[in-house]
Amino acid sequence: MSIIFTKIELKNLVSKKKQEGNTVGFVPTMGALHEGHASLISLALEKHPYVVVSIFVNPTQFNNAQDLEKYPRALEKDAQFLSNFKDRVIIYAPSPQEVYGTNISSTSYNFGNLENVMEGEHRPGHFDGVGTVLNLLFRQVLPDEAFFGEKDFQQLQIVRKLVQLEKLSLKITGCPIHRQENGLAMSSRNARLTEKQLAIAPFIYKSLQIAKKHFETKSALQLKKIVTTAFANEEGLELEYFEIANIKNLSPLSRKRKNQKYRAFIAAYAGEIRLIDNIALN
Ligand code: AMP
Repeated sequence: MSIIFTKIELKNLVSKKKQEGNTVGFVPTMGALHEGHASLISLALEKHPYVVVSIFVNPTQFNNAQDLEKYPRALEKDAQFLSNFKDRVIIYAPSPQEVYGTNISSTSYNFGNLENVMEGEHRPGHFDGVGTVLNLLFRQVLPDEAFFGEKDFQQLQIVRKLVQLEKLSLKITGCPIHRQENGLAMSSRNARLTEKQLAIAPFIYKSLQIAKKHFETKSALQLKKIVTTAFANEEGLELEYFEIANIKNLSPLSRKRKNQKYRAFIAAYAGEIRLIDNIALN
């Protein structure tokens, strides 16, 4: 298991693997790895002999300084976690300067309105930071295919758009959400939850399931009311948003249309920890 800290070393290793006839997959992460990340890596390894896993807490995508400061960091533990994958996984753990150079700032993107709803609306500048770092990382790693979790479904759609805008030649693949048995979507932020918060957090997924159950028979407005009321009665969780959106353009549902796919999205706070989740409705 090699950990690489510089882009030049990474470039040399990846080009060697490619010269030997291998394709290379890529799973970008912010570390504090869990089974959700492992599911992406396993899918990537089914398709590619080698997979680069980047571990980089990207400063430009945090709109809240405290969230950035408190984001869990555990490189040694992460390397241990990945050691099962042996030499087929290459860890890239660069410093901010290595990724950005001296100018650690975001490019301003127009993702065609994908960036203005839900996460974009509630975390100003977040997707500029995501787009900027992924554009840099894609060019440093030069993978054939990159894998992203549907856990961050809006991010996945934005990355597809980024690849078009930046004319990058890699394939983007979405991977299913990995959950605990009680339904809670795995997340690095779960490590910050108290026992009590861990016990109530599965309510987020339960609410999404309720929305799914009633999707055929109720309007978006009615579903929003059901979920909002349920959260108002749930102590310890504060709903930031519940939205139902078309999966292509993520615009909120006004009237259901045939042959269109929809998902429901939630962001909620357990104390100061912000959690997100979503579900396919049809
Ligand atoms: P993060 O380290 O949270 O930035 O996540 C890195 C990648 O792992 C992103 O593509 C996430 O969508 C994905 N991911 C995180 N948690 C999960 C999960 N529970 N199931 C599937 N993918 C996930």
